Amino acid sequence: MQNTNTLDAIVIGAGFAGMYQLISLRDKLGLRTRVLEAGSGVGGTWYWNRYPGARCDSESHSYMYYFSKELVQEWEWSERYPQQPEILRYLNHVADKFDLRRDISFDTRVNSANFDEANNQWVVQTEGGETLRAQFLITAVGCLSSANVPNTPGLDRFAGQWFHTGAWPHEGVDFKGKHVGVIGTGSTGIQAIPMIANEADHVTVFQRTANYSLPANNAPLTEDFKQYAKAHADEIYEIMTTNGNGHPFHIEKRKAVETPADEIEQIYEAAWQKGGLQFRATFEDLLVSNDANKTAAEFIQKKIRKLIKDPVKAEILADIDHPFAAKRPPIDSNYFDTFNRDNVSLVSLRDAPMQEIVPAGIKTTEKVYPLDIIVFATGFDAMTGSLLKLNIEGLGGRKLKDDWHAGPRTYLGLQISGYPNLFTITGPGSPSVLCNLPPAIEQHVEWITDCIEHMRAHQLQTVQTSDQACDQWQQEVDRAANATLLPQVKHSWYLGANVPGKPRVFMPYAGGLSHYRSICNDVAADGYRGMRFS
Ligand code: FAD
Ligand code: NAP
Repeated sequence: MQNTNTLDAIVIGAGFAGMYQLISLRDKLGLRTRVLEAGSGVGGTWYWNRYPGARCDSESHSYMYYFSKELVQEWEWSERYPQQPEILRYLNHVADKFDLRRDISFDTRVNSANFDEANNQWVVQTEGGETLRAQFLITAVGCLSSANVPNTPGLDRFAGQWFHTGAWPHEGVDFKGKHVGVIGTGSTGIQAIPMIANEADHVTVFQRTANYSLPANNAPLTEDFKQYAKAHADEIYEIMTTNGNGHPFHIEKRKAVETPADEIEQIYEAAWQKGGLQFRATFEDLLVSNDANKTAAEFIQKKIRKLIKDPVKAEILADIDHPFAAKRPPIDSNYFDTFNRDNVSLVSLRDAPMQEIVPAGIKTTEKVYPLDIIVFATGFDAMTGSLLKLNIEGLGGRKLKDDWHAGPRTYLGLQISGYPNLFTITGPGSPSVLCNLPPAIEQHVEWITDCIEHMRAHQLQTVQTSDQACDQWQQEVDRAANATLLPQVKHSWYLGANVPGKPRVFMPYAGGLSHYRSICNDVAADGYRGMRFS
C-alpha cells in the first residue's frame, strides 16, 4: 500500500505545535511527514484571531520557540506584548527558515481519522475528499481553536453583520459610524473593546461575568532589553522550564496570609505598575488559599472602582464572583478607562439576560439594543472541541466522542487508551493552557519525537496506553486541580462550562509545568511506563 498518500506521520494543525512537530519528525528523524491545516497559512491562533487589539499576554521574549539557538538570536520582537501581525510574521519566518510549507497541505480540513488495525495505520479523510494513511497520527489542533458562537435564537435573522473574534475576516471590519455590540469580557473582549471603541460610533458591551484584568503596561522593547534577552537566552529558557507556569519569571516564595497588610499593598501596587501576568506571581498562596486570594481580588476591585467614573458601571465591572486568576486573567491596555468614554455603554446580562437576537439587534429581558455589528468575543470550545471534531475512531471502531462522553481521559495528555500510535499535543490532562504555551508545546513535541525515535530504534510498530494508566493519570489531574482554587469557578472554560451540554470536568493539569515535565521524563526513563509497545 505505497502511494504518495501513505506517510510515516500525519500532523493535524500548523500552529506553534504542528510546525515544530514537522521540523522534529521530518528533519530530526527523517520521517515522511505531512501537516494538514484548515487555514490558508501557518500560525494557528495567530492566523485566525485577527480582531483589533489581538496580541499575546505572554512577554515576547518567552512567546517564541527556544529549540533553535540561531532562531532565538536572529528574531527581534518590537514590543513587550507584540500584536497579532508581528506574531504571525514570526511564525511565517519560522516556516521559511525551516522550509516547512512544502510539507503542509493548507485549506485542508480533517473530517475523520480511523485506525486500520490490519495495516497498523491511521486513515485520515479530508473535507476535500482526500485519503491519507500513516503509522503515526499527531494532533496539533490547539486548545483554543474551535470558536464558540452561542446558540442564541434569532442570529440567522440579524439584519447587520456579525463576527466571532476567532475567525476574524482577513480584510478587517469597518466599524466607522457603526453601532457595535460586543458580547464577552474574557481576554479577547478586553483586548478588542478599547480598539473598537476608538473607531465605532457607539459600543455596547454585554457582560455576563465581570472579570479581573491587569494593566499590560505594554511598550516598545528597549535596545538594552533586546540585548539582555539574547545574551541571557539560556537563563530565560531555564527559568521558563523549571517553574510551574512556563513564564520567564519565578513565583515568589512568600505567602500573602503571612504578610502584613501594608506590605501586601505595596507589593501589589508595584506589580500593578509593572503590569502583566507577573502579578499572579507575587505570592505563592494566591491560588491555593481563599484568604490569600481575597487580598489580590480586593486590591484589583478597588482599582476598578477608582478607574471608572460612573458608579453604576463601576459596580457592574467590579462585582466579580470568582477568585482572582481562577479563570485565566486578562491583561489589558485601557480596558477600564474605555468605559469612561461617552460612546461606550455597559449592559449586565446577569441583571437582564440576553433573550434573543432580533433583526435590529440584541434583545435582553429589559429592552432591544439596536446594532449594526455584533462581535462575539465568546471564547472557544476549549481543549476538546477541535479534537472531537476530528471524529477519531480507534481500535474496534470505538469513537473518541463516546469514550469522552463524561469528559476527556488521557495518559499525561499525550495518549488515549484504545487509540494506538496517536499522540495529542497539549491534550487535556496536560498543563497547556495553565502555562505560557510555547515551552509546554516544545516539551510535548520533544517527548513525542523521542518516543517515536525509541520505537524506530527498537523496531516497534505500535504504542498504546491502557485504561489503567489513564485512570491513574486522571486521579492525579483531579488531585492537582483540587489542591487549588481553580475548580471553584463553576462557569470557567477550564471546566467546559461555557459550552452548553459539555461535561463539567477540570481539563488541564494544574500540577505545574516543571513537575509535569519531570513526570514525563521519568515515564520515558522507565521504559515508557503506562504504555505498551508491540
Ligand atoms: P493553534 O495555534 O490553535 O493551531 C491549531 C491549528 O490546527 C489551527 O491552525 C487550526 O486551523 C488547525 N486545525 C484544527 N482542527 C483542524 C482540522 N480538523 N483539520 C485541519 N486543521 C485543523 N498562549 C500563551 O501562552 N500566551 C499568550 O499570550 C496567548 N495569547 C493568545 C491569544 C489568543 C487570541 C488566543 C485565542 C490564544 C492565545 N494563547 C496564548 C493560546 C494559543 O492558542 C497558544 O499560545 C498557541 O498559539 C497554540 O498553538 P497550537 O499550535 O497548539 O494551536
Ligand atoms: P473566554 O475567556 O471564554 O471569554 C468569553 C466571554 O464571553 C466571557 O465573558 C463569557 O462570559 C462570555 N460569553 C460566553 N458565552 C456567552 C453567552 N452565551 N452569553 C453571554 N456571554 C457569553 O474567551 P476569550 O476571551 O476568547 O479567551 C479564551 C482564552 O483564550 C483565554 O482565557 C486565554 O487563554 C486565551 N486568550 C489569550 C489572549 C492573550 O493572551 N493575549 C487573548 C485572548 C484569548 P462568562 O464568563 O459568563 O462565561
